[in-house]
Amino acid sequence: MPLVSSTAMLNEARRNGYAVVAFNVHTLEMLQAVAEAAEETESPLIIQTTVGTVKHLGPEYVAAAATVAADRSRVPIALHLDHCTDFSLIVRCIRAGYTSVMIDASMHPFEENVRQTAKVTEIAHAAGVNVEAELGKVGGVEDDIVVAEHEALLADPDECALFLERTGVDTLAPAIGTAHGIYKGEPRIDFERIAKIAERVPVPLVLHGGSGIPEEQVKRCVSLGMAKMNVATELRILFSDAIKRVFAEHPEENDPRKYMVPAKQALKQAAAAKMRLTGAAGRARDFR
Ligand SMILES: [Zn+2]
Repeated sequence: MPLVSSTAMLNEARRNGYAVVAFNVHTLEMLQAVAEAAEETESPLIIQTTVGTVKHLGPEYVAAAATVAADRSRVPIALHLDHCTDFSLIVRCIRAGYTSVMIDASMHPFEENVRQTAKVTEIAHAAGVNVEAELGKVGGVEDDIVVAEHEALLADPDECALFLERTGVDTLAPAIGTAHGIYKGEPRIDFERIAKIAERVPVPLVLHGGSGIPEEQVKRCVSLGMAKMNVATELRILFSDAIKRVFAEHPEENDPRKYMVPAKQALKQAAAAKMRLTGAAGRARDFR
């Protein structure tokens, strides 16, 4: 099927108590790996790219590759732009074929976050594109956005409801204690806060910083209303480690296919496991 907006699939996930996994990809092989994992586990899928990757590859290349993956697939696939602060890049990605975008103005005061998000919502909705926004601050490092962990501010449930009303976003990423990158200890997730936000906010909630959250905690987040889980760092490490293993054994290797194939295979397996964990596996059948 063609690339679809993520709105319908995420609403369906929230209604049915599972989460669609959104994987950050950086190469064609990574994109193929998550698409194949979705196909084999019959899971709806969100392929996403950071601003850094969009600048590295070009949104047109990414959209073309994702379109081919979607066209060949029986599962619904959306293409999402992760954490973008730049309005013109959002427009460029929509024009290239992205079906979902995140405007991240969470570093600004509430009113400014509302203003920027509402502006994106207006143009994205005109193009049938899903909009995600963030409230509060997710800790850690995301491309060049750095938030000191102690500064990480959690989202306020009342503000979340007001934000939704004033911006019309389709999906909301409230900061609830997760962080980008790899956790040093266990993440301190504020489950009570998720429940309170979910009570006030009917749209799908997004769990950022999905790498390395213990499985039981992922399940609890999903059961409370997190309908999209972002996974980036964990898979990037896995992919790179598989390549390093090839070179450790065969330092003379110079055929990219020889080291990309095992990396792709490792990524595909891990992606499938994430889809099973969040309950997305098998759910693509609902869309036929
Ligand atoms: Zn994030």
